[in-house]
Amino acid sequence: MEEIRVKLVRTVDESYPIVIGHGATACVSDLANRDGLASRRIAIITDTTVEKLAAGALAEDLRLTGRDVRVIAFPAGEKNKTRQTKEAIEDQLIAAGFGRDTLVIALGGGVVTDLAGFVAATYTRGVPYLSVSTTLLGAADASVGGKTAVDTPAATNLIGAFHQPVAVVIDLDRWLTLSDSQIREGLGETVKQACLADAEFFAALEDAFVTRGLTPAEFVRDDALTVLTARRNCEIKRDFVASDVHEGNRRMGLNLGHTIGRALESALGYTLSHGYCVAIGLALQARWGATFGYVSSGDVARLERLLGAIGLPYRLPEGVDVSRIMDAMWHDKKGTTNTIRFVFQRGVGDLMVFDCGRYARPVQESAIRAFLESQVAAGQ
Ligand code: NAD
Repeated sequence: MEEIRVKLVRTVDESYPIVIGHGATACVSDLANRDGLASRRIAIITDTTVEKLAAGALAEDLRLTGRDVRVIAFPAGEKNKTRQTKEAIEDQLIAAGFGRDTLVIALGGGVVTDLAGFVAATYTRGVPYLSVSTTLLGAADASVGGKTAVDTPAATNLIGAFHQPVAVVIDLDRWLTLSDSQIREGLGETVKQACLADAEFFAALEDAFVTRGLTPAEFVRDDALTVLTARRNCEIKRDFVASDVHEGNRRMGLNLGHTIGRALESALGYTLSHGYCVAIGLALQARWGATFGYVSSGDVARLERLLGAIGLPYRLPEGVDVSRIMDAMWHDKKGTTNTIRFVFQRGVGDLMVFDCGRYARPVQESAIRAFLESQVAAGQ
């Protein structure tokens, strides 16, 4: 027998800029000219809604700088974040002669950046992509961190890759066309980030929504607050991702509220949107955490007051079937281990750290079930 060793030591620098501001889309052509990107053909991948709102102007802007640009749009919505859509986009890229010299620009919300990022991760074994986020939820969470994926009937985000963008652009003007409900969804993820990492940011949100009573439409017109929101969301996400890119431990903290939230979303057949389910999951982990002494009842009340002031739910919907939530929770684990792990906040603005520095602690299925049933019984 002979054994030949293939020694590959990877040292990579995947650092990238995040540009935040009103009219920030204007920076895309400059960013697309940096770091060896200038000679690449550009495929703007977007959905049909964002195509009408923003793709034409961006494509024109890039063409003015002499770039070869093609826009590829797929029907908007989570139900289209599939392998089939990915394949259809890839077929269009192939038909248009795109090769290894492609630069993908993902223009849209989290569905677009997840899907287009995944196309970029595998097209000709990987091409660069630049993320232009157009939703608050995208800016709060999806656009930063390099997780790309598509859904399957078995679970959301089941097939995907870690593929970091070459740059992220967050144009705050794009938030002006979001519906109240889309803004609230992004605020659900925003409150989550504040809960897990920044008490001052949480207090700023309380000031805006509880004290000043801002509506979603007023929020997106508040320059100082939108800049603060985008900046803190990105900084918090960056810090967690940079310390644990492949979600070995600390990055799991970003799942605060998501273990119940995602399972609830699936149990309800995706009739209640992700951000709303996350808000409920966030309130439930805090209430459950209070029973272990991780959070005070005063902090739970602050969280519920803030979610309520934003117009987000914080109680389980009436008649929800706990068994379905439990089934979905097992399903969502994607077969990793035979225990369910939970992340809990510590007070407001911090996370609990458990044995051996773990951010997620195992919990008995029977304990989660009993807690959820107690919430249903209490009309919560
Ligand atoms: P989305 O992309 O579907 O956007 C929601 C809706 O808003 C769509 O209909 C879209 O066409 C529309 N839209 C987008 N920009 C708009 C604008 N400026 N004005 C008006 N309408 C606009 O979804 P989303 O809510 O942005 O993100 C949800 C997705 O993000 C989920 O698929 C989730 O899995 C993913 N996500 C990914 C990560 C990650 O780390 N990769 C993190 C969180 C969420």
